[in-house]
Amino acid sequence: MYTLPSLEATRSISSLAVLTSGGDAPGMNAAIRGVVRSALSQGIEVYGIRRGYSGLLQNDMIPLNSASVSNIVQRGGTFLKSARCPEFHDSDNRRRAAELLKQRNIDALIVIGGDGSLSGAHLFEEETGIPVIGLPGTIDNDIFGTEDTIGFDTAMNTALDAIDRIRDTADSHERHFLVEVMGRNSGFLATHVGIAAGAEMILVPEYAINIEEIALQLAASHRAGTGSSGIIVVAEGNEPNLTAGIAQQLQQQGLTPHISILGHIQRGGRPSGHDRVLASCLGAVAVDYLLAGYSDIMVGVSNGCVVDVPLDDLIRYRKGLDPELLKIALQLHK
Ligand code: ADP
Repeated sequence: MYTLPSLEATRSISSLAVLTSGGDAPGMNAAIRGVVRSALSQGIEVYGIRRGYSGLLQNDMIPLNSASVSNIVQRGGTFLKSARCPEFHDSDNRRRAAELLKQRNIDALIVIGGDGSLSGAHLFEEETGIPVIGLPGTIDNDIFGTEDTIGFDTAMNTALDAIDRIRDTADSHERHFLVEVMGRNSGFLATHVGIAAGAEMILVPEYAINIEEIALQLAASHRAGTGSSGIIVVAEGNEPNLTAGIAQQLQQQGLTPHISILGHIQRGGRPSGHDRVLASCLGAVAVDYLLAGYSDIMVGVSNGCVVDVPLDDLIRYRKGLDPELLKIALQLHK
């Protein structure tokens, strides 16, 4: 499925630690399993750090063996638990964390998480010199340098399953449904879900929306009988009550929209086959990158190949949403 890098071992590592941080994503367990089994097969001891950077600062680490990761590849969430840790923004705490790893003779750290977690990983490496490899774990697929992230495919399929059901009701009652999907700063999930669900409209934070214009357009096609029902996919965005505001405008045009906020069901659940393969490959290869002397990189995917991306780039550049994708979505629903 992926073209894997050919890497030669040049560095000796006797022990590494792995953690999951930030928002959980389906496939994180498969990634941990990939790391653990790949490391053990190459004679490396593995510690699991519980609750992300919080656990690291609290010295909450457990040795992992092959059996520790049995029967988890199919489970959503992360058995190591995840957390947000404001203390890790402080460089003194990052140095303290490095000391805790050194006390256990842990040579390297693998971080599975979103762009926040990977930014923290970069600073940690830069300040302490402990080799770090990041893996992109987020349902948002908004990380620079990789076309795919662990959890995105599963979240898309979960949202589609819900929308397909909602469409039956929308159609029967000749109503519009505003379906809010996750994505505070990024419309990747909304755009892909919208295309795959045949949504009549997709609203994402990357592009300014004129709610009044949208309401007029929908009301006109409703009156003309060409759009008696429909699905409008809305990325949650940063603006509070965005979806409720859109619903109000539609009401003013005589429509009776319903709102369905998919919320956290998109984050949980069994990872898809795609996410299991992606997570397993990235987890296993992360160990090979470490042994080959790499550090301060994220392992991602580009053009079907597993690639390394400097963690620094994730902080400097933002992954943009391709406007052509939205154009296609709009062409397809007409
Ligand atoms: P995600 O990794 O899913 O994007 P967050 O942005 O909440 O989630 O980040 C998760 C954790 O990563 C934070 O609680 C914090 O511990 C750490 N982190 C995030 N950004 C930074 C940063 N700029 N410097 C240091 N640590 C960070």
